[in-house]
Amino acid sequence: MNALLPTSIVGSLPKPSWLAEPEKLWSPWKLEGAELAEGTRDALRLAVDEQLHAGIDIVSDGEQTRQHFVTTFIEHLGGVDFERRETVRIRDRYDASVPTVVGAVTRERSVFVDDARALRERTDRPIKWALPGPMTMIDTLYDRHYGSREKLAWEFATILNQEARELEAAGVDIIQFDEPAFNVFFDDVRDWGVATLERAAEGLRSETAVHICYGYGIKANNDWKATLGSEWRQYEESFPLLQRSTIDIVSLERHHSRVPVELIELLRGKKVMVGAVDVASDAIETPEQVAATLRDVLPFVDADRLYPSTNCGMAPLTRDVARGKMVALAAGAEIVRAEVSGTDSVLAAAQHGR
Ligand SMILES: [Zn+2]
Repeated sequence: MNALLPTSIVGSLPKPSWLAEPEKLWSPWKLEGAELAEGTRDALRLAVDEQLHAGIDIVSDGEQTRQHFVTTFIEHLGGVDFERRETVRIRDRYDASVPTVVGAVTRERSVFVDDARALRERTDRPIKWALPGPMTMIDTLYDRHYGSREKLAWEFATILNQEARELEAAGVDIIQFDEPAFNVFFDDVRDWGVATLERAAEGLRSETAVHICYGYGIKANNDWKATLGSEWRQYEESFPLLQRSTIDIVSLERHHSRVPVELIELLRGKKVMVGAVDVASDAIETPEQVAATLRDVLPFVDADRLYPSTNCGMAPLTRDVARGKMVALAAGAEIVRAEVSGTDSVLAAAQHGR
């Protein structure tokens, strides 16, 4: 494990074609029952193996046991009716048929803890586990019970905190909450979004992260990005709030994005997972391109707090492309690691015990 510039992926990896149809979100499983349980576990092991082989430092499960990063968590909760579906506009961007909240939401048992244990068994490296954030969860549901987005978000935050504590006990080093909705609902982020996120992370000894992005490389997201103009300043709303929050790490999108690089300065003091790999393109970055993106952010984040990463999950890509991008990420980080490891700023940071 590299102490400096440790690499990680945001979360998802493509699934093997024997498990689910590739290059598709919400892709139906090809197995069922005990075979599905065995298949997802095998896929998790492959995902770990591919990250280790590529040289990724902080290892994830590749979300191989989940059909979707939000829906699968919600499927395990009480109070949500998956038969009763409504079409809603997700993140103000695209319509999707989603389940309905029909009663008090509850978590009767662990959702991912067995999977996290399986991940823990496969590697001695630090492991990271992603959960949906409260705001992104409510944005993927139709509510007939609470009548208030905020109220439902607080309920989910409590449930997420229970799950996160069990993941921590299973040996997870970094618990990440995915909040792409933070790039859309700015008033809610300010009024209760960050507070409910902190509630989800309350009392954890594991490090906590929040991932905010411009989404998977699907058409609805690419069309939306085309409307955002030459500068994407959405992070300007959430970063100052997150800088003052209890969350340890912020995961953001950078490579090929129009996010002005200086916005990262708004997070000074936090650890920053910088997206140095574009997930909306099949073109595999060269290590030098990854290195250039990382060098570019160094004026705005202390080198000892820079965590090279991907822009978002890689579920919709082919396995070959995802593999190539992980190799490029590790190799690009290695270039910059060699450049900064002798510099005064790092030595000074080390002397400060950071
Ligand atoms: Zn993302």
